[in-house]
Amino acid sequence: MSDAGGESAGESAQGEVRQRILTGVRPTGPLHLGHYAGALENWLRLQDEYDCFFLIADYQVSDYASDIDVVRRGVLEVALDWLAVGLDPEESHFVIESHVPEHAELTVWLSWWISLGRLERNPTLKAEIAELESRSDAAVPVAFFTYPVMQVANILLPRAHLVPTGEDQSPHIELTREVARRFNRRFGYTFPVPSGLVGRVPRLVGTDGSAKMGKSAGNAIDLGDESDVVTAKVMGMYTDPTRLRATDPGHVEGNPVFMYHDAFNPDTAEVDDLKERYRGGRVGDVEVKRKLAAALNAFLDPIRERRSHYGARPKLVRDALASGTEHARAVGRETMGDVRSALRLDDIGGA
Ligand code: ATP
Ligand code: MG
Repeated sequence: MSDAGGESAGESAQGEVRQRILTGVRPTGPLHLGHYAGALENWLRLQDEYDCFFLIADYQVSDYASDIDVVRRGVLEVALDWLAVGLDPEESHFVIESHVPEHAELTVWLSWWISLGRLERNPTLKAEIAELESRSDAAVPVAFFTYPVMQVANILLPRAHLVPTGEDQSPHIELTREVARRFNRRFGYTFPVPSGLVGRVPRLVGTDGSAKMGKSAGNAIDLGDESDVVTAKVMGMYTDPTRLRATDPGHVEGNPVFMYHDAFNPDTAEVDDLKERYRGGRVGDVEVKRKLAAALNAFLDPIRERRSHYGARPKLVRDALASGTEHARAVGRETMGDVRSALRLDDIGGA
């Protein structure tokens, strides 16, 4: 068994031992502004300080039942988005979840330490299942119901110390902490008890004003959107529904357009001025939205540039995935070796 300073942490290029991060996304579509403000920004900030495992969670995509092509393409798209925002595969590991089958093996074992009731009470899972059921008449697959268990295994397999995500993932991290403690108590120290870290904007609202921008929800501004697409999405955004004319006093709080200004417009003097005039009925929605579109496009320009650089060099993207995944496989095997001996899986006949 290892401790936090042993094989449970990675070495940097300079040879110092760093604590580990595990976090990820599902390959269900292009990454968006919510991912950036809720998660990616922290990943970028921490990628030098921590040994990072960025996971593409392709075991956890229900499209498998309908369209495998979409999922496999999605894996590459996520990696491209990561390179576009500036994640560095020389420093960090880009990992394809299904290429490290130890994720699945650990999921099976850990599921014995998680009760059905505990999963049924998980508020994120409950909301996602309700949403899934409202969108289609398809039944909820067992794999969808148990995806938080796989997330527990994802985090524990590389023995991560820190898990930076959006707020919706916090219940899964809490579950991970419980399982790690329970496992350690029963079998001796095996896993660090990981901490969560929620981003600057814990849960960015959708362009339609709904509670969360989501890639499966059709209410997202994608990091790869062209500038005219961004402008069109912003001009169509949900705003203060009580305001009928530009001369009516408007609400800034709870208004998605101003939330995005706060999150992405670095010109705070411009934002303060717009807010003051909006409250006083001295500015129209069109001007507020035009300025938001300009700020977002300025923010996205360098991301688009890097995206087209890597988009023209798919081998770099594949290489990043191959080397990160190979490293994760070695780390995963090591952890599973410890788990297997804790569970005495090699004992035949209880010898
Ligand atoms: P899906 O709708 O397919 O679940 P998603 O947009 O929720 O997609 P995920 O892959 O589930 O994306 O989430 C990846 C990471 O991004 C998680 O850490 C999640 O918390 C974070 N995240 C996703 N959407 C938002 C958002 N609107 N605000 C803040 N963080 C977000
Ligand atoms: Mg999600």
